[in-house]
Amino acid sequence: MLKDKNGIIFGVANKRSIAWATAQALHDAGARLAFTYQGERLKENVQGLTREAMPGSLIIPCDVTKQEEVDETFKRVSQEFGRLDFVIHSIAFAPREALDGEFLTTSREAFLTALEVSAYSLAQVARAAEPLMTEGGGIVTMTYYGAEKVIAGYNVMGVAKAALEASVRYLAKDLGPRNIRINAISAGPIQTLSARGVADFTSMLKHVAERAPLRRNVEPREVGDTALFLCSPLIAATT
Ligand code: NAP
Repeated sequence: MLKDKNGIIFGVANKRSIAWATAQALHDAGARLAFTYQGERLKENVQGLTREAMPGSLIIPCDVTKQEEVDETFKRVSQEFGRLDFVIHSIAFAPREALDGEFLTTSREAFLTALEVSAYSLAQVARAAEPLMTEGGGIVTMTYYGAEKVIAGYNVMGVAKAALEASVRYLAKDLGPRNIRINAISAGPIQTLSARGVADFTSMLKHVAERAPLRRNVEPREVGDTALFLCSPLIAATT
């Protein structure tokens, strides 16, 4: 479904990352992929994961709080791929102390960091990707129900996800005339590195398994397959 298509994936930290499950779905559909990692610490993880599974993948350092790294990332993608067809934005961050106790006590610094990394980065990445999406494209980001309702412990990340979801709607309006679609997947809880930062995460998993219509939690690959669907021509009129 994605043969001869080029994509970039932000947010692979390790094999549990939703971004990695998404990479596998996109790779199996024939896409050529670029990956970004944040800091040297994660470089080996991404290299190790892709070495056998997706040899020849482009691997680029990119901390979204550094504009020069975002610029350099898309320059490399332009040089290596020429055209870009899709972007997977699967990154979020909030200082640990902001993900416990009351939202009321969130510091200015924690608030600004969470909003910058988890929400502003979507517009930042979309802006950089747009000139390379010469044949249209798809952008997919990851959100969570804590944007809509209060989820204990999710706190400032819920506020950041609300900003992210509103950003998706505004970007859809801006990018639509260029045939670039943007969508967010609101995944259920998944045990990942980031999820470990949320207080009492295991009770969220238990709650969903008891009450969701399917009486189970979602698998990372199922989120990846949804991202594949959103990048594919099967859903070409949805943004
Ligand atoms: P993850 O594996 O920890 O992925 C989060 C990624 O964000 C990591 O690769 C992380 O890198 C990266 N990141 C953080 N700060 C960054 C920065 N300044 N620049 C570039 N990258 C940065 O966790 P995940 O659960 O798969 O999260 C992926 C997305 O899914 C997030 O948006 C998350 O909110 C969303 N989501 C998760 C769940 C869940 O239950 N797990 C549910 C719904 C939505 P570092 O490790 O270096 O910080």
